[in-house]
Amino acid sequence: MSLADLIADADRVVAFTGAGVSTESGIPDFRSPTGVWTRYDPQDFTFDRYVESAEVRERSWRMRREFLAAGYTPNPAHLALARLEQAGRSPGLVTQNIDGLHQDAGSRHVVEIHGTARDVMCIGHQPRHGTPDGCGWRMPVDWALAQLDAGDPDPLCPLCGGLVKSATVSFEQVLFGDALEAAVSLAGTADLLLTVGSSLVVYPAADLPLLALRNGARLAIVNDEPTPLDDVADLVVRGRAGDVLPEAVDAALSR
Ligand code: NAD
Repeated sequence: MSLADLIADADRVVAFTGAGVSTESGIPDFRSPTGVWTRYDPQDFTFDRYVESAEVRERSWRMRREFLAAGYTPNPAHLALARLEQAGRSPGLVTQNIDGLHQDAGSRHVVEIHGTARDVMCIGHQPRHGTPDGCGWRMPVDWALAQLDAGDPDPLCPLCGGLVKSATVSFEQVLFGDALEAAVSLAGTADLLLTVGSSLVVYPAADLPLLALRNGARLAIVNDEPTPLDDVADLVVRGRAGDVLPEAVDAALSR
């Protein structure tokens, strides 16, 4: 059975995407030899280091600005997944990415389990053990960039004076409970779980395909290298997401 067949047979396709769906937009994944982490040490960017060190926060803002200034745009893989939702064949997707490109492509229901780089939030005065403890204040990231431009290298929450951080999940930060709940609930309703561009080694996110399988869904994996779940999948397509998805989605939708 081809990927087009599996999609054509399904009423509720839920995609689960990782960094690999955005590499063809120019955003490196974790493993790329030219990736961001070749210039920044991931161990410097744990949640607790962010809380402890003004210098780490300032570097994080510089990195965030660099990321946003690059002006990344959706690629054919993001657009194909948006077409699937628009055709009424997908109730939404779950992504590990923080880049917002699924929404730019036109997807409406996007669960971002690792948050979004497009917003910033208050994380409180001295949050501990990877757990944000803010007052609930949240703003588009442009607010923080404006503070930086105005000469404040380490902006604080205007409501309570707590630390401000990108609304993303850093290393050693606990996941946002509501997003995880929404992801589990969406994956639980799928009749086809389609993973795209994820190494499927980051837990608990990589549990979602297994949960869908337990609920009777089929599992299709599109990735350019093997994953630990290849053996339990109904179909594995080894290739680039931007080549594989448009063809399969359009073939399925034209039937
Ligand atoms: P990962 O880097 O661990 O794995 C990405 C996978 O995609 C790899 O197996 C790689 O071989 C594959 N891949 C790369 N380009 C591909 C393509 N064009 N087509 C098909 N497959 C391709 O990423 P992950 O599993 O998503 O998990 C790592 C974490 O990195 C996630 O938490 C994510 O939040 C974060 N991250 C996000 C972004 C982003 O927002 N765009 C970028 C880098 C890392």
